[in-house]
Amino acid sequence: MKIAVLTSGGDAPGMNAAIRAVVRTGIAFGHEIFGVLDGYRGLLEDNFIPLTSKDVSGMLSAGGTMLGTARVTEFKEVPVQMVAIDNLTNRGIDALIVIGGDGSYRGALALHELGFQTIGIPGTIDNDVYGTDFTIGFHTALNTIVDAIDKLRDTSSSHRRCSIIEVMGRTSGDLALYAGICGGAEFIITPENPINKDKLISTLKKHNDEGRRHAIIVVTEQQFDVHKLAAEISIKSGFSSRATVLGYIQRGGRPVAEDRILASRMGSYAVEAIMQGVSGECIGIKNDKLVTSPLADIVNHPKERGELYDLVQKIR
Ligand code: ADP
Repeated sequence: MKIAVLTSGGDAPGMNAAIRAVVRTGIAFGHEIFGVLDGYRGLLEDNFIPLTSKDVSGMLSAGGTMLGTARVTEFKEVPVQMVAIDNLTNRGIDALIVIGGDGSYRGALALHELGFQTIGIPGTIDNDVYGTDFTIGFHTALNTIVDAIDKLRDTSSSHRRCSIIEVMGRTSGDLALYAGICGGAEFIITPENPINKDKLISTLKKHNDEGRRHAIIVVTEQQFDVHKLAAEISIKSGFSSRATVLGYIQRGGRPVAEDRILASRMGSYAVEAIMQGVSGECIGIKNDKLVTSPLADIVNHPKERGELYDLVQKIR
């Protein structure tokens, strides 16, 4: 078989490890593997490169994605998707593996519905994909955030300050939740657990009156302006506050061990699924077992709330 692989949407540490696993497993089974450059853009511009085992050497530990990624808004249109399928079939490619998040999965589903064999692998730091306990990149971003919280706590404590840390996650609070638990945050504000400003300010006032030296608030992005919240807390509770938006630093870096293993397992499993004729499905991990689920279900479900959402109520 000829199998193509691309990375799409936001980059995530471990995408390279997944590409490497696809290439090495595919070659081990006697297939030819092609990389598509810059996500769906490469499909439209016929930008393919053959990938050998040697081409992915050293990629296990490399951050980012060696194939590049892109956001291609016009890929939502069927005539544009047909161009992609023409380019794939003209090269004799039999199947496509899409490594990306929820949006990339919609593109993969569209190609499957147009009759092209397509499989998804969840690659996003946000952990916002239904049907998998973890996405590739989540654990690396989590470690980056925990490291930042530890550092911000040092300076907050020295200056006797409340530190608000905005992290990525889009509609999923998992990064904030896991990082908040690891960093001992006083408050974790996520889309699943939105802000209760009165309670937040009255608790911080109490902490300030007690003479506590620091407070940590971890917030998922896109909910409100964290700098305005810091100003409001400072005025209303008396606890001097500062906000830090961690930003793109969360997307970079060498993948941690969990992401290297997850990416290797999922990449290899995706090739085996393709060999079995599976299409329109994506790879997930559930209770440490690899599974496949229909892309059509995945893209229509918000990520389920894990048990950590309850844990945080008990150990705060
Ligand atoms: P992520 O995959 O990380 O969620 P995006 O939501 O930006 O990132 O999606 C990545 C790409 O997937 C988009 O730029 C677009 O090319 C493709 N895509 C997103 N939504 C759709 C859709 N409804 N139909 C087809 N392709 C889509």
